[in-house]
Amino acid sequence: MQEPSLRGDLSLRTCLETSELFYQDLLGYKPEQTSLKEIPRKQWGKFTTQRGFDFKSSGVYLPRNQTAIIQEGDSIGLFHEYFGHGLYCEQSLTGRNLVELERKLLEEETLEFNGREFTLEDLKRFRQRNQTFQELDDFRKEHLTQYELFAIWTEHLLSGEFGLRDEFGKRYDSFGKEDREVIDSAIGFSNQFGNLAAFYTFGLRKVQDQKRLLKLSQEIFGKKLDRTRSVLHFGSGKPFSDVDLFVVSSDIQSTYDPWLDVRAYKPEDIERGIEVLNPMVTDPIMVGSLVEGDEDYLATQKRRILSQPVTENAIRFSLDEYGIEMKRAGDNSLGRYLQEKNLRSAKTFLTNALALKNGDKVLTFNGLVEYSRALSRNGKFIELKGGIE
Ligand SMILES: [Zn+2]
Repeated sequence: MQEPSLRGDLSLRTCLETSELFYQDLLGYKPEQTSLKEIPRKQWGKFTTQRGFDFKSSGVYLPRNQTAIIQEGDSIGLFHEYFGHGLYCEQSLTGRNLVELERKLLEEETLEFNGREFTLEDLKRFRQRNQTFQELDDFRKEHLTQYELFAIWTEHLLSGEFGLRDEFGKRYDSFGKEDREVIDSAIGFSNQFGNLAAFYTFGLRKVQDQKRLLKLSQEIFGKKLDRTRSVLHFGSGKPFSDVDLFVVSSDIQSTYDPWLDVRAYKPEDIERGIEVLNPMVTDPIMVGSLVEGDEDYLATQKRRILSQPVTENAIRFSLDEYGIEMKRAGDNSLGRYLQEKNLRSAKTFLTNALALKNGDKVLTFNGLVEYSRALSRNGKFIELKGGIE
């Protein structure tokens, strides 16, 4: 964004405004509720001591009033406190939770010390026996690594945008070996999969629109994307749900992450999937939105789905898948997240089998949910389920 030769002229205001544009373009939002306070460098020591902050710290972020306090003109501080902790507290669930707990504590402290003078010692004593403080303390301990790592990774990201990597290097060198390893792995991840993916692994809110889904696909699939028939977006697309991508490709693999669900099918698997009216294939094709790829191919597959007759083979397929998914749902070694996912898949296949047996082509997940509700309302679902088992 900035030529290295301009580095000396880089004002904090320019850094702030340019970074905001960068965030708006990449994520679809920028810090909004965070306020920024600059303290003259000469007064920093006095300020931190008076307020009971670590005087060695280069900046401070206060979740309770969402304020980033930095030394005058310190752009690395701006990246860390304002765009790091500030954005995290606005746009991640963990950060929002932290702010909420801090506010609750603040209310209780205000009630306790209302109108009377108190020292930092008084405050400390009050906190030691306060339930909310204990809760907050535990919460902080649990999430401190992620919270801090996000801010340091942000420093790396923005220092790169402004040609200030030397500054970041100095900070980086001050960390111990173990910390550096953690930082390296976060930087390595964003180098490999892109910045958007990195924000999402940190749990930041997702704007799941065409622009970002395309960028994400380009960054995570790389050159493989050029050889891909189509990438479709399906699923809820909610701000804190995972990103569901349906990929028709011969060389992309399916992957599951808490934030990303890539379902990859080879073109021949799509054909087979349509023949047996597999909802995992028919749903994304019928209601997914095209992120990248061939519109004609997609239109052809839709027509094939609509003209595909219901066969015994298709019913058998859904029943078999139901059995497989139920078995997985009972496998404790997979962990609860995948087990629940498998249980939902099992229900989907069972409902699909029942629908197909009735001669109904439902084709979509939402349709199948409705169908299963209708079946349980008139009591047939339990009966039929019993019959199958
Ligand atoms: Zn920090």
